[in-house]
Amino acid sequence: MSAAETEKSGTNKGLKFTNTLTREKEDFRAIDDQNVRLYVCGPTVYDFAHIGNARPVIVFDVLYRLLRHVYGPDHVTYARNITDVDDKINARALRDHPELPLNDAIARVTQRTADQFHKDIEALNVLQPDHEPRATQHIDGMIEMIRLLIDKGHAYQAEGEVLFDTASMPDYGGLSKRKLDEQIAGARIAVDAHKKNPGDFVLWKLSSEEEPGWESPWGRGRPGWHIECSVMSAHHLGKVFDIHGGGLDLIFPHHENEIAQSCCANDTKTMANYWMHNGFLQVEGKKMSKSEGNFFTIQELLETDNFGGRKWPGEVLRLAMLMTNYREPIDFSVRKLEEAENLLSKWPDPVEKDAAPSAEVLGALNDDLNTAAAIQALHALAGEAARDDSKMPVYSASAALMGLRPVAADLSGVDDAAIETEVARRLEALKAKNWPEADRIRDELASQGILLRDSKDSATGERVTSWEVKR
Ligand code: AMP
Ligand code: ZN
Repeated sequence: MSAAETEKSGTNKGLKFTNTLTREKEDFRAIDDQNVRLYVCGPTVYDFAHIGNARPVIVFDVLYRLLRHVYGPDHVTYARNITDVDDKINARALRDHPELPLNDAIARVTQRTADQFHKDIEALNVLQPDHEPRATQHIDGMIEMIRLLIDKGHAYQAEGEVLFDTASMPDYGGLSKRKLDEQIAGARIAVDAHKKNPGDFVLWKLSSEEEPGWESPWGRGRPGWHIECSVMSAHHLGKVFDIHGGGLDLIFPHHENEIAQSCCANDTKTMANYWMHNGFLQVEGKKMSKSEGNFFTIQELLETDNFGGRKWPGEVLRLAMLMTNYREPIDFSVRKLEEAENLLSKWPDPVEKDAAPSAEVLGALNDDLNTAAAIQALHALAGEAARDDSKMPVYSASAALMGLRPVAADLSGVDDAAIETEVARRLEALKAKNWPEADRIRDELASQGILLRDSKDSATGERVTSWEVKR
């Protein structure tokens, strides 16, 4: 890999982020200002997502919107995966559909859960990422990466598993700042006899006949959890990319192990230059989690009276999440939601925004995504806009930057053929690397409430664009 592919050759545009790699707030510079690349670990689709799971989705949606604003919407690529192979999924499939063959039962569970996830986050006004790869679509890539790791002496086979050999990587532990010998000394669990070191983790494991599996050089089996993110991020974003995000609990072991796999397989020094982690959403001081049983699903909050005896609009949930800085814990309570609702009730309906967001709101987000300060600035602006119409556009644009107060689209005048023509013209501009023209067309359509979505045609590898009318 050439240095140019991984060096931060972009300029600093005023963004600063706290980087878990260094534990410091750093000036952000992209590898390539023309294509800023973001990866966030997505849900495991065995059960409905709880409101804690919504936190990274919302936080990194704000980051995505901010990057699109700063670099231009065509110059950011966001990938967020769906984990659709996992033993929790198998267990759920067996429980819910004992009458079906396991593969069909699994497909039912993952499809239903992924569909609900999309419904949930749409209600939270979260943009679709540019890529949403599913683990089961990338098994070949995982087998290839595991083969590479074995060839390079970073993985070994033992008792029906392929394991990553943590001792083969001198700087293993760099993200979580754990030293290998500390991990060994501190390990409370007995070392599995087949592991060389207790921290060695599974890349591949054999499946019994009843378990889902894929043919591989090591027998019919299935991947461990970590390998999928190494493979899918490289597939969509390259071997080294800009920002990797997720919740705090993913730092170790998941992200540490992603780094180990990616760096050792790809011969790179890093996997991503900036690592950002959101804090926990808590209930009475405890992390909301399935295992604690202290959780509320997003669907339940939106559609039932289970929390505080009433339903909660998606916008209230979203705002409640953004009133706290992403790195701090949030205590999830009825009071918190009421506070968010009270704020929203004072904000005027937005107008079609043909303005830049306010410097205060943008400045707060630029400073380590300080959504708490941005909301304060937005609240002040909302007050001004309520009194003075001339402030409405900048207020509306500032709210939109955080995905709040979406403008209801007027669908009456949508002319499909005219939009198709514009979409085709934009594709031509992109081919000709005429970025300003492509941006102009996208913005023009956006101002009419038409949202474009680019993806790659899997057969030809060419960019294809679909469009939809924003609600
Ligand atoms: P999981 O399904 O447990 O792998 O979690 C999916 C995402 O949600 C990960 O990024 C987790 O870090 C995040 N997450 C899970 N629980 C919470 C919580 N209580 N607060 C904030 N983020 C969470
Ligand atoms: Zn991951």
